[in-house]
Amino acid sequence: MIISAEGIVLRQRKIANNRRMIVIFTKQYGKLSAGTSINEKSRGKAALALRPFTYAEYDIFKGREAYSINSASVSKSFYSIGEDIDRFMTASAFIEYLDKVLPEGEPMPKLFELSLDFLQSVSVSNSAPETLLYAFMVKTLSMLGVAPELGCCVNCGKHPDAFGGGFKMFSVSGGGIICPDCAEEEKRTPDSLIYKPDFDIIDVFRYFELKPIKTFEKVGLKPEVRREVREILADYTDRYLGVDVLRGIEEPEVK
Ligand SMILES: [Zn+2]
Repeated sequence: MIISAEGIVLRQRKIANNRRMIVIFTKQYGKLSAGTSINEKSRGKAALALRPFTYAEYDIFKGREAYSINSASVSKSFYSIGEDIDRFMTASAFIEYLDKVLPEGEPMPKLFELSLDFLQSVSVSNSAPETLLYAFMVKTLSMLGVAPELGCCVNCGKHPDAFGGGFKMFSVSGGGIICPDCAEEEKRTPDSLIYKPDFDIIDVFRYFELKPIKTFEKVGLKPEVRREVREILADYTDRYLGVDVLRGIEEPEVK
C-alpha cells in the first residue's frame, strides 16, 4: 500500500545496501521510520526533501513490516536556519526534543502544526531564538500529557490568592507551583527540586501557553528570566519526559 504523508525529517542513518533509514515526524501517522535509497547528497528533487529543516510531502510504501520512501518533494525549506549559528543550534535542539518525546506511530497533528510554526519563526528570528524554543516546549507539555499545575498549589490545592501576594515557587519534583508551607515540607524529601524565581513563573508559563509562537520572534524575555526558565524547563522535561536538550544550548552573554 502506498501512503502519502507530510513530514519533517528528524534523523537519518546509513543502513545496508546503500540505503538510509529516515525517521520522520509525519502529520498523518506520527513518528515513523522508513528506509530509502534516495541519497540526501544527490542533486535530485527528492534528495532535497530529506535535508534537515525541510517540510516535505512523502510517498511511502507501507509493507507488512516496514516503511519505504518511494519519492518525496519539498513543500517548504527553512534553509535560512542553517545560515545562522544560533538559529541552527536552537532548531537542532528542537529536532532532538521532538525525536525523543514523540511516540512511534501516534498521530499528533496539533503538535505537527506547532512544529511548522516553530520552524517558520526560527527561520526569521534575529535575536535570541531560544525564547521560541522555550515557548514551543511549554506548549508541548499539555499535548504530551505532562502539563504542570499552574492554578493552585500542587500539593495542598490552595489558590495563590490565599497567600496575599500569591506565590512564585515552582516545584519540579511536585509538578507545578507550590505554596510556601508545602515548599518547606517538600524540601525535606530527598529528591525535591524547587525553584524560587525572581519573576512570576505562572505569568511566564501562561504567556508561553497562550500566545502564538510567532509572538516570540520579536518579544524576548529578559536574559536573567530566560536563563532561569531554561533551568526549570530542562529539569522539568528531564524528570517527566526523560529528555534534556537544553543543557547544550549556550545562552548568549548578557550585553
Ligand atoms: Zn500548598
